[in-house]
Amino acid sequence: DNFKGINDLYGHSIGDRILLEVSARVTAHFDGCLCIRQGGDEFIVLTRSGDNTHNLNLCRNFLIQLNKPFVLDGLEFSIQASLGVVKHSKDGHKLDELLSKADMAMYEAKRLRCGFFAYSEGLQEKMQRTAMIERELLHAVEREEFFVVYQPQVDAHSKEIIGVEALLRWHNPSLGIVPPDEFITLAESVGLIHEVGFFVFETALTEFISVCHSTRKNKDKLRLSINVSVQQLFHPAFLRSISQLQKRHDCSSIELMIEVTESLFIEDVTHAKEILLALKEKNILTSLDDFGTGYSSLGVLGGLPISELKIDKVFVDNILNNNQDLQLIKSIINLGSGLGMSVIAEGVEQVEQADILSKNGCDLFQGYYFSKPLNKKDLITFMSR
Ligand code: C2E
Ligand code: CA
Ligand code: CA
Repeated sequence: DNFKGINDLYGHSIGDRILLEVSARVTAHFDGCLCIRQGGDEFIVLTRSGDNTHNLNLCRNFLIQLNKPFVLDGLEFSIQASLGVVKHSKDGHKLDELLSKADMAMYEAKRLRCGFFAYSEGLQEKMQRTAMIERELLHAVEREEFFVVYQPQVDAHSKEIIGVEALLRWHNPSLGIVPPDEFITLAESVGLIHEVGFFVFETALTEFISVCHSTRKNKDKLRLSINVSVQQLFHPAFLRSISQLQKRHDCSSIELMIEVTESLFIEDVTHAKEILLALKEKNILTSLDDFGTGYSSLGVLGGLPISELKIDKVFVDNILNNNQDLQLIKSIINLGSGLGMSVIAEGVEQVEQADILSKNGCDLFQGYYFSKPLNKKDLITFMSR
């Protein structure tokens, strides 16, 4: 993985010696197999063994062996790799076909950062679709294929609307409606997330401010919650573009909030905290999305400028029949209120879920029981009611 980066950073002579070291480890580990350097940083290993478990263990152990650090010119290196696995007969008969499928499996392993991946039927179609999404994404903003929908968030007691979450939608003529789960990570990997994210802010601010003006005379401010992915938040121009947006839009009738996930704090807590503090200075609140599914340590949480915890839908789904999930939700609510944060539950689909959540002190709800995400026109109707 990232051999080109090593070459660029340390020069080709170090690169060559690393390849020699890798070659030595390949041949040592795959003893009795045919080992070939395919070219560049790619190797092929052929084994006669048809025992799947044995072969996959061999791959797993190889990655461990490869990862053991070594020193060149006083510099320590530790190599990671991605392996694609194919099986003769099952996946094809011709060498070309097997190599191209091994390649696909390897790219999938790289994408998932999971070390190795065995080719399976359907991977080819999936990769073709991914490639097509990537191609179409490049022009989606300028071709005006994106739009934003708004899902109401309500107070647990009064059941009154307190705000909305903006959710991005993409309608492409050839692909149809592509769900955000499928294209957000791709937009990140092709470097488009900043542009796409900016579109969401621009559109949601324009539309939601106008909706509030037409439906909320003399009523409390509503808040607008916008999802911001980690890469987007860490983009050097993020804070600057937020300032520009605030200058161009009259945000006095709304409250702006961003939703981030816990993965933010795995990347770089210090930097994340600086950005969230800078946002707070600009009167922008932060909600911690998908809370409970990530890895953030509770110790980190207290020191951060976060005003809301958002309980993930997976816990709400099982709240009525799984005591463990109920206990977990109770703990999250206690944690939130102890730290002075509000707690919102997402994915509330049944009145019984809302009842048990509000009985346990949950402040806010969002989910199909109250409303699905709505376009601007339907949101006006919803809010007028
Ligand atoms: P999320 O932020 O966790 O959003 C909640 C998702 O749950 C939304 O799906 C929403 O439509 C869905 N949902 C809400 N209530 C219910 C319910 O009661 N039942 C069910 N079954 N689903 C419910 P959606 O819109 O497909 O968004 C998926 C994910 O895509 C979001 O998860 C978010 O991570 C990402 N996303 C969406 N819009 C944006 C955006 O503008 N920027 C970024 N960076 N990510 C976005
Ligand atoms: Ca969200
Ligand atoms: Ca969520």
